[in-house]
Amino acid sequence: MHLARFPRVRLFPTPTPLERLTNLSRHLGGPEIWIKRDDCTVVATGGNKVRKLEWLVGEAQAQGATHLVTQGAVQSNHVRQTAAVAKRFGMKCTALLEHRIDTNDRDYLNSGNVLLDRLFDTAIEYRPGGTDMNAEADAKGEALRAAGEKPYVIPGGGSNRVGALGYVSCAQELMQQADEMGLRIDRVVTATGSAGTQAGLVVGLEGSNAGVPVLGIGVRLPKDRQEANVHRLAEATADYVGTPGGIARSAVVANCDYVGPGYGHPTPGMTEAVLMLARLEGVLLDPVYSGKAMAGLIDLIRKGEIGKSETVVFLHTGGAVGLFGYTRVLEDAAANAVLQG
Ligand SMILES: *Cc1c(COP(=O)(O)O)cnc(C)c1O
Repeated sequence: MHLARFPRVRLFPTPTPLERLTNLSRHLGGPEIWIKRDDCTVVATGGNKVRKLEWLVGEAQAQGATHLVTQGAVQSNHVRQTAAVAKRFGMKCTALLEHRIDTNDRDYLNSGNVLLDRLFDTAIEYRPGGTDMNAEADAKGEALRAAGEKPYVIPGGGSNRVGALGYVSCAQELMQQADEMGLRIDRVVTATGSAGTQAGLVVGLEGSNAGVPVLGIGVRLPKDRQEANVHRLAEATADYVGTPGGIARSAVVANCDYVGPGYGHPTPGMTEAVLMLARLEGVLLDPVYSGKAMAGLIDLIRKGEIGKSETVVFLHTGGAVGLFGYTRVLEDAAANAVLQG
């Protein structure tokens, strides 16, 4: 695997911090929990999409593009990070936002990520919930090309084989960091949505025979569909980087028991996890992804499915700006919470 073969721009200093969550580990009575701070990727408050954008924008520039087109939910972290990176490179940005959640909440519709999209002068168009958003983004790209622009279309979440290189690279970075620290990792846990993060991690870890399994905690789809999406993208990414033999289906594991009523809908586990990390560690999770992923990790620890003697690395994928789209539920939770062990 030789990633320097692929065009890339540099957006943040590496490695991102790998920190021990001493208070949380003690509070839960083990395992030893570490956090990989990919919320610290610098651009526009950071997040996992910045890693993917290093490779996506590398390819866009190689193709002479001057306009990034992408899509996401109204509170998309991916859109916010793409919009910021576009400005950094003097490019235009058009974003299609799907009303994936049926709500009139002013904060959800106007604060958090959307507010930042507007600060970055993103050309925003809305689409109804249930729209085939990647098809819409492709059509938008075609229309812009016909109008004489040079668009580069980035799929939702930046999740294709190019964007996934960001997490192939992150897997290499994490293992090097752990080896230098003398840290033996038993398992990596991450939120999984559009699949690029988990797919890239699996390709990077399998491709180097690290022997470290990845557990994705789903935020939208049921387990069978989520695992199929991650596996399909992992195979495409492995092929792209030239890993022989493909990726075993068994290397892709997602637990989708923590979605609750649906994508972007708050759950009690999410609010508990957000408060626990805030109050025990001074770390901000997000309501849609990392909050639900941490809720899953906490529950699996309580149920004994993740052993007390393990060392677990939780990938912090960012998204805290999204907290401002959920102020009501979080204000209530903050006022009433008592942290359970
Ligand atoms: C997009 C996102 C994820 C999910 O990553 P995928 O690569 O889409 O699976 C997780 N956490 C946050 C904060 C995100 O914005």
